Amino acid sequence: MKFSGKNVLVTGASRGIGADIARVLAKMGLKVWINYRSKPELADALKDEIVANGGAAAVIKFDVTDEDEFIKGINLIVDSDGELSYLVNNAGITNDKLALRMKTDEFTSVIDANLTSAFIGSREALKVMSKKRFGAVVNIASIVGEMGNAGQVNYSASKGGMIAMTKSFAKEGASRNVRFNAITPGFIQTEMTEVLSDEIKQAYTKSIPLNRLGSADEVANAVAFLLSDYSSYITGDILKVNGGMYM
Ligand code: NAP
Repeated sequence: MKFSGKNVLVTGASRGIGADIARVLAKMGLKVWINYRSKPELADALKDEIVANGGAAAVIKFDVTDEDEFIKGINLIVDSDGELSYLVNNAGITNDKLALRMKTDEFTSVIDANLTSAFIGSREALKVMSKKRFGAVVNIASIVGEMGNAGQVNYSASKGGMIAMTKSFAKEGASRNVRFNAITPGFIQTEMTEVLSDEIKQAYTKSIPLNRLGSADEVANAVAFLLSDYSSYITGDILKVNGGMYM
């Protein structure tokens, strides 16, 4: 795949989908900034792996819910590389509970972690990318933001918000040649879904036409496409990576 930019920040990249996004983008020649919050050993190991495979990577610690830290992180990247070409807002959490039992702070904390953080990252990236009149952002939303899910009113609201926000950012970024797209993964095998019982996984699998859960690298490949020059005329789009579970 062809990239006109040179570097990318992937939030929440020490494990799961974020780690595979970092691997795939590094393999395609981008310098990857691996953001982590709490597990430096995983982030460092990923960086070493990428460098051992001939790629370029750096580790950057911040909590995406801390606005000052996030802004400082982006500034550090720009000071180091002269630009930020691409951003992937991947960091995210769940805190599942039926709505009737969900406390307000259990709702807002998931909105802050998933949606507000992606707003901060997108806004700061747009500022930086506008100066170069070039850039692309991919937000990792979720199938649940499109179809809803019992036990996830907080998570689905955050991901539905990301979908709408991506389209609005796309409209604001277009005149500056900064593209914004989102991906809505279905059920992907990571620690986030490992907590589900085998029964639940089997039930979900039955509702997936491709008849299996997805893998993190299948999401990463879609991210690579949406950042690359191969998608230069695509902005404000929501790409489903869900095995056909929701069409
Ligand atoms: P995961 O295995 O739980 O990994 C989440 C990553 O986000 C971790 O690296 C975590 O870092 C990081 N993170 C969480 N809160 C953070 C914060 N405040 N600041 C910085 N980093 C933070 O999850 P995943 O399955 O890879 O999911 C990645 C993204 O895909 C999420 O946005 C998720 O909602 C979305 N998604 C996943 C699925 C799925 O089936 N797995 C489906 C649809 C969408 P720590 O190690 O420090 O906690």
